[in-house]
Amino acid sequence: MTTARDEGVIKFRFTLKRAPAPEMTQVIALEKWRALFFKLGLIGEYPIDKIGYGNLSSRLLKKSFIITGTQTGHLAHLQAHHYTKVIECDLKKGMVTAEGLIPPSSESLTHYGIYDANPAIQYVFHVHHNKLWHYLQNSDCDAIPENIPYGTLEMADAAQKVMAGKVTGLIVMKGHEDGIISYAPTAEDAGKNLLDLYRSLGTKQ
Ligand SMILES: [Zn+2]
Repeated sequence: MTTARDEGVIKFRFTLKRAPAPEMTQVIALEKWRALFFKLGLIGEYPIDKIGYGNLSSRLLKKSFIITGTQTGHLAHLQAHHYTKVIECDLKKGMVTAEGLIPPSSESLTHYGIYDANPAIQYVFHVHHNKLWHYLQNSDCDAIPENIPYGTLEMADAAQKVMAGKVTGLIVMKGHEDGIISYAPTAEDAGKNLLDLYRSLGTKQ
């Protein structure tokens, strides 16, 4: 049986070509935001099932990108070798090809779908937060419908539809418990989308 919280279960098939990890300079912007998100609980590990959540990526050339490795959610700080390069994706076949020392995040295909939507998007941050997720469902936030499983062609299509040409914004993933995506042309904007939301919720309670 699958549940909405199917984080960490790698549903796609991936090929990992062993290659040097990304350079630290390539991941520094991601790592800066990741450390903050970890502190806020937007990235972490569910205590009971020990499943990590939250993954960040930045675009390289064309549709390749650097993404956090699978099952790294429990770590407060990552080293360069915890990141990996996704060099090719096939949404129809559910295939991901990566280069590095660690398998890519289980949500790599979702990230790919967002990058595929608009070449101006350079950063995709996917976090989990129960209160924010519930709050967004009743807001006018762009939403991926409940019946669409993450990391599929259907999800990429649905994301592209709700993004409607926008280059920055938030998407709530209704069928992926606690899941929220932020995307933007800069790490600052992608981070701020989430931080502003987090802070606004703080003042509402
Ligand atoms: Zn997730």
